Amino acid sequence: MDSSVYANKDFIKASKRWVCVYGSKDSGHGTEKVNGAEMCKLHPQLTCDDHMKVNGEVSGKFFTGTIKMPATVWCDSDGKEVGKQQGALSSKQLIEKMAEVEKQLGPGLGSDEYWMAQDRLAAGEKAMGEAKLRDALASFNEVVKMEKLPGSKAVVDRAKAGLERTNEMVQALVANADEIRSAGDLDRAKEKYKEILAQFRGTEIGKKAEKALAEMEQAEKDKVKKGNPPKR
Ligand SMILES: [Zn+2]
Repeated sequence: MDSSVYANKDFIKASKRWVCVYGSKDSGHGTEKVNGAEMCKLHPQLTCDDHMKVNGEVSGKFFTGTIKMPATVWCDSDGKEVGKQQGALSSKQLIEKMAEVEKQLGPGLGSDEYWMAQDRLAAGEKAMGEAKLRDALASFNEVVKMEKLPGSKAVVDRAKAGLERTNEMVQALVANADEIRSAGDLDRAKEKYKEILAQFRGTEIGKKAEKALAEMEQAEKDKVKKGNPPKR
């Protein structure tokens, strides 16, 4: 199937609605230089090491005992097996089989939406790492909005997990500011609330910070009125 099926233009066209994973334990394919790197001569998007590693990871997951090669497995978007075939298929048979599985599973996530989701998930993680929590929330929320699209579950689940972790970080920021305030370090507490406000103005969290700041300012004014200015 290596040279007759996977290189067939009709198969290539049909395969674009799929995530194709190729494994082979053969190391003797020879190499071809692609952008300065030595790639597998048979499948120049991969190195032979790549497909040998994949082979080791997937063959035990989907097969036991002796496998009649080549073997093909179809999975849904969560990686759950929905069909398999041992022995060679013609490109026509393979395309038919893929169409049959697509019919059974319903449409998958389009590749544009898939790459958009990957981009937003990566942006969310990056923003989280830089403590730009509002940006992180916005990025993850864009992916959660794709919830109604068929085949979006895997990326939406990742976005929801990202939202959860970001929200925990937001809560921790507020808790930290509250703690500093309770401990009586009012100048530092003010700084912390102002930092929160700078990121979250107009949101629930922003309002909390605003309220805390207003309360602290009011308390200071009250002290001044009583002729008891705050210590510096
Ligand atoms: Zn190879």
